Amino acid sequence: MNTIKLLDDLTINHIAAGEVLEGPSSAIKELVENSIDAGSTKIIIEVKNGGKSFIKVSDNGKGISYDDIEIAFERHATSKIRSSQDINKIYTMGFRGEALASIASVADVTLTSKLNPNLVDITDEIDEKAYTYNIKGGVFGTIEETNANPGTTFVIKDLFFNTPVRYKFLKSDQAEFSKIKKIITKIALSNLGISFKLSNNGKQELYTSGKGDIKTAIYEIFGKEIANNIILVDRKVGGLTIAGAIGSSRVEEAYRNKELFFVNNRPVENEVLTQGLEQAFKGSLKQHKYPFCVLNLSIPAEQIDVNIHPIKKDIKFQNEKDVFDLVYQSVKEALLREEFLGQGENRNSQELMEQYVIQQEKIVPKASFLQNRIAGFDNRLKKNDNKILNNYDDIKAVNQNLMSGRNADSIIAKDTYEKFEYKFIGVVFKTFILIQIGDTLYMVDQHAAHERILYEQVKASYNSNNEPDTQMLIVPSILPLTRAEVELVRDNKEIFEKVGFIIEEFGDNTLKISGVPAISYDLDNNSIFQDTLRELESFGRTTKQDVENRFIATIACKAAVKAGMVLTKEEIDNLIQNLFKLPNPYTCPHGRPTTIKYEKEELQKLMNKFKF
Ligand code: ADP
Ligand code: MG
Repeated sequence: MNTIKLLDDLTINHIAAGEVLEGPSSAIKELVENSIDAGSTKIIIEVKNGGKSFIKVSDNGKGISYDDIEIAFERHATSKIRSSQDINKIYTMGFRGEALASIASVADVTLTSKLNPNLVDITDEIDEKAYTYNIKGGVFGTIEETNANPGTTFVIKDLFFNTPVRYKFLKSDQAEFSKIKKIITKIALSNLGISFKLSNNGKQELYTSGKGDIKTAIYEIFGKEIANNIILVDRKVGGLTIAGAIGSSRVEEAYRNKELFFVNNRPVENEVLTQGLEQAFKGSLKQHKYPFCVLNLSIPAEQIDVNIHPIKKDIKFQNEKDVFDLVYQSVKEALLREEFLGQGENRNSQELMEQYVIQQEKIVPKASFLQNRIAGFDNRLKKNDNKILNNYDDIKAVNQNLMSGRNADSIIAKDTYEKFEYKFIGVVFKTFILIQIGDTLYMVDQHAAHERILYEQVKASYNSNNEPDTQMLIVPSILPLTRAEVELVRDNKEIFEKVGFIIEEFGDNTLKISGVPAISYDLDNNSIFQDTLRELESFGRTTKQDVENRFIATIACKAAVKAGMVLTKEEIDNLIQNLFKLPNPYTCPHGRPTTIKYEKEELQKLMNKFKF
């Protein structure tokens, strides 16, 4: 009795279709990748009903010859791989040779193709005829002559018509279309030299000109607002490179969906990359906001685990730490560079980049650059070129030391710091301090700025091993608390103490406060404690570090001068001097801007815009 049967081709193709074809978007991905492989410079994708009823992909690539038409639809028919050893090397797109066979087994597919004389290798005896060919549900038709432009067009109707269960799993037209758009967006961004056009039900949804530069592509896909606020990234460390663009801190997204990563030009979703990016943006964006990026990493194929499922977008790196560092450092550097040079001004970036040295596979910024950074502006610190700081934590430490005056072991002594010059213009609405530095007008929010300064101060003291900065109270406060509040205080006692509170349980549900953080001495101590406690209650479940950061931010916020308070000239000078010493002075700990700047040129442009 023969119970083992070979599966027939159609069944195999159905199974394969189940594996690689999730729906219209994955069919389109395969077709477009084939078009790219065929050397196309223009690819047009038209769909109806989110691709469920109709998909058309046309290209101007090299075309498929008469002899290859039927073969192309055979399983494992591929012109792209010679032996199984190649598989490890191939980190380009399709190499499985089964996409067309799979699609044709579950849809009505019509291929029209004409060889493109400009792209075919063999120039003699070029076939000038165009051919068309139909396969429906794996049933082959016959090849017929037709008229067409050079290149290839695939029309796919009624995807999953013979696999109703799979059809049922498709989402709404709109949902399927947004998957398509997402994929085409990624493909367009990783193929800047190719023009893409995508439409749904006759309406154009995406267009790129294929001009070849990232900025143009970002403009075409995401619009002017984002394109005008990007910072270019281009860096090589060891054998790894990273290139593309990130949004500045002015670009804030509600979702992660504009964090676009590519590895060797292939779209990927990967936690190491996401973390590297988001960590670098920490403190630059508001809470619950996400950055924008289009970043491509080039990594030798041997350092990537390729044994992952073909449709999985995730990827595994052999050395995750190196990859994380590459992303983190490059993004951080780009943010600092833009902040340092001001809006959109990249003319000195090369110079700044050159000041970076690479040591032990790690990016180590030279001290001179750092000092400028710390000072915020040139020449405010004396140069100390031979001292090298090892990483951004050191930079932070130096900043914090400068800020808090705790400079004993610091690499740059405090006395090398010189006051920097600015022109004080005035205060408006008892809230915004206006100053001029060179050709730039700065509008500093006194509350946000002070909050930021205090935040850094408390944080520095919090992270140091020194005694907390405490101000003892002459008369301790006695505070009645609820049961839950007592619990909360107990759970977070260490944090309270590290920021400078001296607290003690005092009988039932009562707390004695005998010391408070030095910065909040002038304030109503009971209320600052209670406010912090209330904030703590609202934090919910989160990491210890997050709680600490938010705790410190709350204290800073409560202790900072408020809008509407009148400051003396001396206080203003102090505020400005301290603010611009910070590594990233432009946002408060909650991510709101402390400062808005206007270049003279910008203001002039603004004026001209409204000229009659
Ligand atoms: P793979 O892309 O893995 O080789 P596919 O099933 O996607 O397998 O395609 C099979 C073959 O059909 C390709 O190797 C290629 O030779 C040919 N082909 C498919 N699409 C195109 C196209 N748009 N232009 C030229 N040739 C194509
Ligand atoms: Mg393919």
